[in-house]
Amino acid sequence: MSSPRPPGDQLRSLASQRLSDGRLPSSAAETRASGYGSGKSICALCDGRIMSDEVEYRLVNPQDDREVALHLGCRFVWLSECAEL
Ligand SMILES: [Zn+2]
Repeated sequence: MSSPRPPGDQLRSLASQRLSDGRLPSSAAETRASGYGSGKSICALCDGRIMSDEVEYRLVNPQDDREVALHLGCRFVWLSECAEL
């Protein structure tokens, strides 16, 4: 059985957790690139692989200059959590 995507509520609590421990950048992060996934990146929110038929956003975490990849849908969850900070 393939691992199902966590439902929205779970993603939102993951997002706030990862925002507070620094694994996800705050809203100050700039989007470096967006496009279809490489099939190699792991989403920083849901830990799922971003497949080549899914849109991938790459951001730079200003705290440590690391690049972070997110699914399109996970980016929306992350952004809405940022807005609540
Ligand atoms: Zn994701």
